[in-house]
Amino acid sequence: MERSGTNQDSSMVRDHAENPRNYGMIENADGHARIKGPCGDTMEFWLKVQKDKLGRVTFITDGCGSSLACGSMTTTLAEGRLIEDVLSLGQEEILEALGGLPDEFEHCALLAVNTLHEACIHYLDSLNASGKEEAKPVSMERRQGESEESYFERLQLHSRLNQIRHKIVVLSGKGGVGKSTVAVNLAVSLIMAGKRVGLLDVDIHCPSIPTMLGLEEEAVVGSKEGLLPVEKDGLRVMSLGFLLQDRDEAVIWRGPRKMEVIKQFLKDVVWGDLDFLVIDSPPGTGDELIAVCQMIEDLDGAVVVTTPQKVAAVDVRKTVSFCRELGIPVIGVAENMSGFVCPGCGEVASILCSGGGEMVTESLRVPFLGKIPMDPGIAEASDQGRAFVDYYGDSPAVERMQIICEILLRLDKEKPGEGGEIL
Ligand code: ADP
Repeated sequence: MERSGTNQDSSMVRDHAENPRNYGMIENADGHARIKGPCGDTMEFWLKVQKDKLGRVTFITDGCGSSLACGSMTTTLAEGRLIEDVLSLGQEEILEALGGLPDEFEHCALLAVNTLHEACIHYLDSLNASGKEEAKPVSMERRQGESEESYFERLQLHSRLNQIRHKIVVLSGKGGVGKSTVAVNLAVSLIMAGKRVGLLDVDIHCPSIPTMLGLEEEAVVGSKEGLLPVEKDGLRVMSLGFLLQDRDEAVIWRGPRKMEVIKQFLKDVVWGDLDFLVIDSPPGTGDELIAVCQMIEDLDGAVVVTTPQKVAAVDVRKTVSFCRELGIPVIGVAENMSGFVCPGCGEVASILCSGGGEMVTESLRVPFLGKIPMDPGIAEASDQGRAFVDYYGDSPAVERMQIICEILLRLDKEKPGEGGEIL
């Protein structure tokens, strides 16, 4: 087989390009993936697992010498390592082991590492699917008309997010209905249920999560791999608010600049292994939300937050049709600020109208997740930078958040369905 050379000075690169290790396929592999890179080269990996470690890893590529060197070095570094270690193996590690590559060939290392990750994910998915339908190998081809740059970005983002089992987006038709409150409290409830959870705040105009968790003074730490989330009691938190020097900064950004910031932000966060990522989205159904939902391709579903007034039904309809257009399953609609928890007796009293959210779910045939009453403790807790569910265990509002959390936990076993069921 004749292959073009790399023109590299590094003897390590030359050695791996001329004598690629682990070249070829494995019959009956435990994991397999094939990815076509932005340069048009294809990388394909196979692996065999022995007791949570990669026993054998092989690859083939139709690419140039750099692709061969990167594939070869990636398999060499991966063999004998635990799967979780392999999933955090990055492009930098491959480049370092090879003694570097010129900038224009560095993408070969990313392609190799992404393909390896996908093969591991394929293996892990097959384990989860055992007894169910067989998991399909991942093949991230470049889409028709997709620019090289955006394909490359999509691969990077995919590699960042593929260590997260479930991604839930919390949506609302407009601001001020309690979307961030629900996102924070669901994330903390999932932590309390023993899950590994991340909370991502992509509300560019009003990133309130840092305030709600008392993290306003936190600065994000960058590492070789990217931006590290801030940790609070086990919860990994990342907010655009951490990156804004001045809270008014985002307001003056125009559309394309805003998209660029959101995209960069999503691509750079190093989450590590997570069971759930809860995403607090920008309110409404505008371009920013579309961008976020399209970038995070495999969302498990959306929790829609609304208020009880009938006028809010219009926003719920818009949000549900937005989800349908983008193919995001609607986990359900929660009616927030529905009734009032009396601070004296703890009973829920109806002070305003109620039931608008519930009614609209019936006509839209989406699940109703129940009513979260107004509780002065919620506003108090968020002003003090604490999650409500952590402190007021006996409130009817906490009870409802925990029921919604239970529904999310069921995602581990089944995909959410639609059908107007009242939970
Ligand atoms: P959004 O994210 O939709 O803009 P927030 O979650 O920021 O809304 O909530 C707006 C305000 O309402 C916050 O001060 C929050 O503490 C308060 N709030 C939200 N839900 C409740 C509730 N059920 N009871 C009392 N206060 C609430």
